[in-house]
Amino acid sequence: MGRIQQALRGALLMDFWSAFGLGMRYFFAKKATLNYPFEKGPLSPRFRGQHALRRYPNGEERCIACKLCEAICPAQAITIEAEPRSDGSRRTTRYDIDMTKCIYCGYCQEACPVDAIVEGPNFEFAAETREELFYDKAKLLENGDRWEREIAKNLELDAPYR
Ligand code: SF4
Ligand code: SF4
Repeated sequence: MGRIQQALRGALLMDFWSAFGLGMRYFFAKKATLNYPFEKGPLSPRFRGQHALRRYPNGEERCIACKLCEAICPAQAITIEAEPRSDGSRRTTRYDIDMTKCIYCGYCQEACPVDAIVEGPNFEFAAETREELFYDKAKLLENGDRWEREIAKNLELDAPYR
């Protein structure tokens, strides 16, 4: 075997061991990736996910139909209709959000004086059709009922910074 071939073989062997060592180091190191959807990363209490309409603990809707959220929405994604109830309180008869327009700015939540409309922690609401992303009041209240515990905890954690 010539000297050039020997030098080449030595260099290849060194490359192999250095690559092997690198591979082993990353094999045992803490993984930088998550095995989603089985593992999920931490979320900030301020995370702005799927919208929800909240209720008071007695089941009454928080929303007082002031329409501030509708007025402030820069994407004009919210449509509200309202009328007074027999007890004189004002409540929505229609509360729709077109999620295909929403830009998740959070202004609706910021504007709401009674913490009724919120962007909850749910980020897994992808849909296959546009129609599924047209949320009505029933859907938004259902989201609120489902996520109330997490939403209330996040609002409490964020309260000192407001
Ligand atoms: S998050 Fe912003 S864009 Fe989306 S509904 Fe609320 S105000 Fe409108
Ligand atoms: S969700 Fe809040 S801001 Fe929007 S109409 Fe109801 S009370 Fe007003």
